[in-house]
Formats: sequence, structure tokens, C-alpha cells
Amino acid sequence: GRTLPGAWTAAWAADPDRTVLSTLDGAAMSAAELAERTAIAAARYAAAGLAPGDRVLISAGPSLDLVVAYVAALRYGLAVVPANTAYTARELAGIAADAAPALAVLDDPARAGELPRVTGPDLAGLPTPAADVALDEAAPRDVALIVYTSGTTGLPKGVPLTHGNLLASAHAVRIAWRWEPDDRLALCLPLFHVHGLGVGLHGTLTAGASALVLPGFDPAGVAAAIRDHRATLFFGVPTMYHRLAESEHLAALAGLRLAVSGSAPLPADLHEAVAAGSGQHVLERYGMTETIMLVSNPYDGERRPGTVGFPLPGVAVRLAPRPGGTAEIEVAGPNVIAGYRNRPDADAAAFAPDGWFRTGDLGVLDPDGYLRISGRAKELIITGGYNVYPREVEEVLRAHPGVADAAVVGAASAEWGETVAAFVVAGDAVDAATLERDLVAWCADRLAPYKRPRLWRWIDAVPRNALGKILRHELVA
Ligand code: ATP
Ligand code: MG
Repeated sequence: GRTLPGAWTAAWAADPDRTVLSTLDGAAMSAAELAERTAIAAARYAAAGLAPGDRVLISAGPSLDLVVAYVAALRYGLAVVPANTAYTARELAGIAADAAPALAVLDDPARAGELPRVTGPDLAGLPTPAADVALDEAAPRDVALIVYTSGTTGLPKGVPLTHGNLLASAHAVRIAWRWEPDDRLALCLPLFHVHGLGVGLHGTLTAGASALVLPGFDPAGVAAAIRDHRATLFFGVPTMYHRLAESEHLAALAGLRLAVSGSAPLPADLHEAVAAGSGQHVLERYGMTETIMLVSNPYDGERRPGTVGFPLPGVAVRLAPRPGGTAEIEVAGPNVIAGYRNRPDADAAAFAPDGWFRTGDLGVLDPDGYLRISGRAKELIITGGYNVYPREVEEVLRAHPGVADAAVVGAASAEWGETVAAFVVAGDAVDAATLERDLVAWCADRLAPYKRPRLWRWIDAVPRNALGKILRHELVA
């Protein structure tokens, strides 16, 4: 039945002339145009033989065409399977083998490989529609999006998110962050993860607000979005804030109503550097593919560096004690998936007997309730029976003026089980031998002996994925 009438369009349909999408070079689309273009695109999907419930793989850089193709799929009831734009034909084939899409939308036909049916983001390769199709009829339990996790801790897992999951999370952040129709988001996140889609785009739609779609991130583009295009919101990953802080554009953030960070930990000293250089107190929040958004620093009140704040409206959070004195963050709510796609093994590991979802992240609460993410359970280093959180050691290393970046992993040790290994990117004009001597002393002043790195490796760059997460499995000491 028609249980969610116009859930994705209700807010923007109220004012059809309002601009909902625009670009830095001056293209703009009103709510009425988006409604019309998505209706035509949905009819093209239908003319190509796709029916609600079918899957469409989308792998394309940010553009207005891409957003139209995406929103049309949501409205028509297709399940979108977004895929990293860096994926080759071989990697896309791997996703297609699991998701079985009826169609692939690619901005680069060279990556098509053996995919059954391929068109560009303008859908011009599909047949011209003969008739209109029914829109906005999906039920809350229908799958809207199948996102593959980032693969930080193992092979990416397919995460089927329903319309109900997505709407619950979009409304939670809309309420928590006071997202209003007058807001304009500078959207420069990739549109193949839940950060860009589930937070940036869905929040824009459910708030009836507008998004400035940037082709990607660069500090000058963000500054132009704020100064010349009156962007009020910016969502970034820590790497973006780091690049802004090192650029001449940091002060432009002062023009925003709200700047949000997530997807990876925002170091407390970076939070403070951004505040000092722009007056902007970045609001850090925590989420994951399987749940969209979970926990957020408050809009009003202290945005505490190094913490992710309090549960969002509708989300329940608990800390489940683990051996060794740590605790895993477990969550429940209408935003949480019911299970992975084709992965009963992962389901068995991820859900507690009472149905709560195990995030795999370790947490601790400040006395007044702010949640701190200490790291991932899988990345915890246990050395001689003591727990070492890579994040804590990394922050100590990065705070040293001669260090440009650092990542910490456990290395197998016959004596200790594991020992702490540091992979360090030296800053300009520092030689490794001097830096190692300095860092040993630096760590001795700041870390208990068992937390201090015993193995030092010098690398040119810390391997990170598109959202700035450290790919620790690539670091073998
Ligand atoms: P995989 O599940 O395949 O190993 P992944 O967990 O990195 O990959 P995502 O779902 O994209 O895939 O990322 C969710 C994870 O990102 C969270 O479980 C958490 O570890 C991390 N994360 C997100 N926001 C924050 C934050 N503000 N601080 C620290 N970690 C964060
Ligand atoms: Mg994960």
C-alpha cells in the first residue's frame, strides 16, 4: 500500500519555485524542475523494463544528473546500489555479483566490463518513456539503498537500508541540527556512501532545503560556496578539515551556520585549530553504514572536542562490557538495518540476542554523558595483557611538530602477543634518525610504557580511503 506518500518530496513540494540544487558554475534546479525531471527519469527506468524492487547500480561523480537519477530511483521504488567511483570494472563486477542489478548508471563507460546493461547519469541511453509511472509508493520496509561498507575491517558487506531506516535518520539530524528550508549545504562528499547520500542529500530533501553540488572537495571550492553562493552548512571528514586548516581558506568557515565532521575521528587539536582560525566550533557526530546517524554533539551547548556527543532522537545507545575492561557500543532504533545482504555469518556476529546491533566500536562515557569513541574492537592492540587504543597513540604522534601524519597498528610479538608499531610520515626537512630519537622521548613524556611504539616505520603517506579512514590492513610492520 501507499504508506509513505511523498516522503521524499513532501518538504520541497510546498514551495515549487525554491531552488533545491545548484552548482558552483551557476546551474540551478527548482523543486518543480526536480519533481518533473525525476518523474521523467523514473518513467525511463520503467521503459527500460525495471520494476519497483529491482536494483540499479550507480557509480558516478557528483552532478545534477546523478542526483536526478538517484532521487528518481528512490521515488520509483528501485533499490540503489552506489559504488565507489574509483572502482575498476573488476571491482564493479564483484558488487554486481552480490547485488544483481538490472541496470548500471556509470559516468565512465570504460568501467562497464561485463555489466549487463549500462547507461550514463543522464539516462539518455534508456528508451524514451511512453507513459508516466506511479511514484512515491514505497513502503517503510522496502529497501531503498544497498550500500557496501568501507571495508576497513574486512571485505565490504552489503547493507540494505529501507525507506523507513533512511527517513528516520534524515529526520533525526534535521531536528538535531535545526535544518531549515533556508539552509544551503555545500555538498562535496562522494555520493556513494551514507555520509554524502544518507546525511547530505536525504537531509536536504527532508528539510526542503537546498544543496550546492560540488564536483569534489578542495578548500577554494568550499570558500567559494560559502562566500559567493551563501552556503550555510558544510559536512566534511577530518581529512577535509585538516586541508582547510592548512590552506588560506580556513577563515571562510566563519560564514557557515554549522560545520559537521564525521566518518572518522576528528582529532581534538584539529577541532581547536579550526575554532581558532575561523571561530567555527565543528560539530562532530558518529554514524555507520548499517545505522546512518547515531550520536551527535549538541547544536546548542558545548561541542566537546574528542567526543561525539549524545544519542540522536529515536536512537538508543548502550555500552556492553567486554573482557579486558573495554565496552562495545551497541545501538537500536528505527534507523538500524534488520540484517546484511547475503551474509548470515555477519548477521550472527553483529546482532546481540535481544536484537541490538553491535557497532564494533569501543566507547566510554564522560561523567556528563558525552560519548567518546576509543577505537574499533578489531583494532585494539593487546600487549602483555594491556589494552592500547591506536587512536590515542596516533594523536600523541601527530601532535609532534615534526610529524605530518601517523598510523598505529599491532605487530605480532612472541613475547607480548602484540607490540605497538608506528607508521610515521615525517614533516618537511626532518631526518628519520633524529625524528625517531625525538619521538621516543616525546612518547615517554606522554604515554605509559606499554603504549609506546616499539617498532618505527617511515612512510610517504598513510593509506586512507575516500572518506579519510586509515586502511590499517595495508600497514604490516
Ligand atoms: P567495514 O565495516 O567494512 O570494516 P567501515 O566500518 O569503515 O568499514 P563505514 O560504515 O563507512 O565502514 O564506517 C563506519 C565506522 O566509521 C564506524 O563504525 C566508526 O568506526 C567510524 N566512525 C564514524 N564516525 C566516527 C567518528 N566521529 N569518530 C570515530 N569513528 C567514526
Ligand atoms: Mg563497519
